Amino acid sequence: MTLPALPHEMDNHTFRLAVAQFDRAAELMNLDPNLRQRLKLPDRSLVVSVPVRMDDGHVEVFTGYRVIHDSSRGPSKGGIRYHPEVNLGEVAALAMWMTWKCALAGLPYGGAKGGVRVDPQKLSRGELQRLTRRYAAEIFPFIGPDKDVPAPDVGTDAQVMAWIMDTYSMQVGFASPGVVTGKPLSIGGSLGREEATGRGVVYVTLEAMKHLHLDPKKATVAIQGFGNVGSHTARIMHEVGAKVVAVSDHTGGLYNKNGLDIPKLLAASNDHGRPLGDIKLGDRITNENLLQLDCTVLVPAALSEQITEKNAAKVNCRILAEGANGPTTLEADQILHDKGVFIIPDILANSGGVIVSYFEWVQDVQRFFWKEQDIRDRLHEIITSAFHRTLEFSNKQKSGMRMAALMSGIDQVAKAHLARGLYP
Ligand code: GLU
Repeated sequence: MTLPALPHEMDNHTFRLAVAQFDRAAELMNLDPNLRQRLKLPDRSLVVSVPVRMDDGHVEVFTGYRVIHDSSRGPSKGGIRYHPEVNLGEVAALAMWMTWKCALAGLPYGGAKGGVRVDPQKLSRGELQRLTRRYAAEIFPFIGPDKDVPAPDVGTDAQVMAWIMDTYSMQVGFASPGVVTGKPLSIGGSLGREEATGRGVVYVTLEAMKHLHLDPKKATVAIQGFGNVGSHTARIMHEVGAKVVAVSDHTGGLYNKNGLDIPKLLAASNDHGRPLGDIKLGDRITNENLLQLDCTVLVPAALSEQITEKNAAKVNCRILAEGANGPTTLEADQILHDKGVFIIPDILANSGGVIVSYFEWVQDVQRFFWKEQDIRDRLHEIITSAFHRTLEFSNKQKSGMRMAALMSGIDQVAKAHLARGLYP
């Protein structure tokens, strides 16, 4: 893999995974060499210091990032992650994946991602608010409804988005709901946004089952991660009649071969505030065991690079639906492909979140709000047609679903670059 001049902080394993995937797709589709160089690196990368007055009076300085990978097709779009291991390479990789994800779904957006290197669990509500507002003030010149539109990701939620919206609005002097998505309903959020990623995972999984002639009522599902994506995926899988046999979080997992009582588990986890390790509603298993369970559908819905060359041979599912971003390394991908696992890649499987973010932004810009059923119907239409386009393309190209999804996304972005030409 050849990487053009790269700031060394960006050069890490997650960024290399994103670039290696891109390179492979670019090779297969014979992408214009100029564009190939150009699309490997982000448009802009901002690193900010975020000083925060802690409750005990001392000032702590956190590091924050906002990376805009591409904005050739519209404002850049992507979440903000609060996690103690966030770094520039990870954020740049996630920004690149957002570009392909938005293009694959046909949304008029480029890709971006942000993050702050912090453990939000260790902050009080006041500290979290001050951190968020200062971070928002530092990235203020980059963001805006027509420029770059953040959203929630790992470790952030609707309240964090409300603080960003307020900080931005106070600077410009009027309420600007379209600057972020995933907001509370009271300030221009959208019905159905919170559950959207999980609902999208279920919609595409049901399409994959149809294609493979599998009955959802006889399917077993294992889900790694019980945050926003994992918990809503579990709930909706349960609602459509699939048997959710295992779930996990960073404290470990719960397993019941006859199916976990998901409504009870959701209530006990207190809106995923309480760790699963404290809940006794199934047999204890480790995250590693969960990934190796014999099941119809495995949903990694936690962090990146969970399925690697070390454990891929032991993965025992028929369908891998990637709720997380980048959960599978390239080596693992090949092993799974050879085993005949049907992969619904991240940029397709988890695109429900950004699709409903798009609906939220459209509603904010038009100041006209939709009914929840309209949101669900339109999400279903967009994500299932993206699934079928990808499947068709993968059959035509004789490539796996991951490469087909990447090639379709990259192709849209390439067309936009070629049409606009190189400035100046
Ligand atoms: N963080 C989500 C993702 O990775 C949503 C991004 C958005 O809605 O802009 O796709």
